[in-house]
Amino acid sequence: MYDKAIINGKVYVNQIWEETNVYIKGEKIALISNDFLPASEIIDAKGLEVLPGMIDPHVHFELDLGFIKSVDDFYSGSVAALYGGYTAYVDFLEPTDSVEALENSYYDRLALAKKSVIDYHFHACIKNPKGDLEAYVKKMKSLGMNTLKLFTTYSDSDRRTYDQEIIELLKLSKKYHFLIMAHIENDDLIDLNPNFTYKDLPMSRPSISELTEALKLAEYTRQTKGYMYMVHLTSGKTLEALIQNYSDILNKHFFVESCPQYFTFTNEKLNEEEGYLYTFAPPLRSHEEKELLFKYHESVFTIGTDHCAFMKKDKIKPKLSQIPLGIGGIEHALGIMRHHLGDQVIEKMTSRVAFTQGLSNKGQIKEGFDADITLFKADAGMRVSGNHGTCDYSVYEDLATSGKVISTLVRGQFVLKDQILIKHEGKLIKGCDFL
Ligand SMILES: [Zn+2]
Repeated sequence: MYDKAIINGKVYVNQIWEETNVYIKGEKIALISNDFLPASEIIDAKGLEVLPGMIDPHVHFELDLGFIKSVDDFYSGSVAALYGGYTAYVDFLEPTDSVEALENSYYDRLALAKKSVIDYHFHACIKNPKGDLEAYVKKMKSLGMNTLKLFTTYSDSDRRTYDQEIIELLKLSKKYHFLIMAHIENDDLIDLNPNFTYKDLPMSRPSISELTEALKLAEYTRQTKGYMYMVHLTSGKTLEALIQNYSDILNKHFFVESCPQYFTFTNEKLNEEEGYLYTFAPPLRSHEEKELLFKYHESVFTIGTDHCAFMKKDKIKPKLSQIPLGIGGIEHALGIMRHHLGDQVIEKMTSRVAFTQGLSNKGQIKEGFDADITLFKADAGMRVSGNHGTCDYSVYEDLATSGKVISTLVRGQFVLKDQILIKHEGKLIKGCDFL
C-alpha cells in the first residue's frame, strides 16, 4: 500500500511528458506506473502538470549588508519559493577568510534557516583569503558543503579574491571535488563614483567587466582542469564569447547560470520612472545583449533567481551608493522562465541544479528520489499577480507568465495544497562530492 498516489497527471519524467501515475511511500517516490494501485491518499492531477520540485541554486535570505538586511527571511523567502513551485534552495554563508570564521558562519546560518518550510543547503563563501586555502576547503567539506562562492570584485568591502588564490582554489576544486561559484566582474572596471544615481548603474558596472573577467576565469579553469560555476551571467555577449573560445570546457568544467531578470528586462528599465526598483548587481544589459542571451540560451546550464528582496522605500534613494542592490523573484521564476523558454527550462531549474549542487536525491521524478513534486496548471493567458513573500513589490507584477503552481510536496508531504500553505519544517540537505 502506498501513502500517496498522484494519478492522471502529465508527468515530467526523463525530460519528456508521460501520462502516468506517481506513487509515494514515506519521503520517497516509490513507483512510476500506468497501473492504478491502492494508496492511502489519491490525488487526482487531471489537467495538471506533475513536475519535479524546483531547486534554486542562488538565494539570499536574511542577507545582512551592514546598513540593511534583505527583507525575506528564511521563513517568508521559503514560503514565496513554495508558491513558486520550489522544494529546495541553496543560500550562502557569510563571506569569511579563516577556518574558524567559516565554521561559525555555518552554524549561524543553519540556526536562521530552521524557519524554512522547504529544504535547504548552503554554499560556503570566501573573501580575500590569504591563509591556508587547503585547510579552508577541508573544513568546508567536513561541514558538508561542496560549493564555494568567491567574488572577483567588491575589493571596496575586502571581499575580492585575487587571481593567485583563484588559481589555487581551482586546483583544489579538482583535488577535493567541489565547485567554485564565482561572481564574475572585472573589479578594475567597476566605477563607484559617489555621485552616480541608479540610472548610472550600467556605467558603474559595465558589461565589458563581465566579459573580460569571464574569459580570464575560463582560461584559468581550462589550464587547471578545475571546476567553476559562473553565477548570474547577464549578457549574451559574454555567453557568445565563452561559446566561441571555451566550448571544450563550457558546462563541463565551466558552468553558466543566468537569472530570469536578464531574460526579461533590458537596461532601458532604469530610465523609467520607477527605475530604482530594477537595481541589482551585475545590472541589466542592452537589448542586443538580451537577444543574444535568448539566441544562446541552450548554453545556460542552470537558472538561479539571486532572490534578494528589499522594500520600495529602501530602493528609492537619490544616490546609487545608498540603494541596496537586489530584487525578489523566486515566486515567479518558473512561470516567467517557461513563458520565455518553454519546457526546456525545467531541467535548468531542477536536475541540472541538483547535479551542480551535489543534491543526489533531488531534482527528478524518479523511483528512489525524494518525493519533491510540484503540480502546475499551465495557462498561457495568465499574468503575474501578487506575492507571498515580505516584499511590497515585484518587478514581474502583471507580466505574462505560463501558469500557476497549485500544490507542492516536499519529501512526500504537501506543504502547499490547492494554494493553501500547510505548516512544515524544511531540513538541511546533505550534499555529495561534485563529480
Ligand atoms: Zn547573489
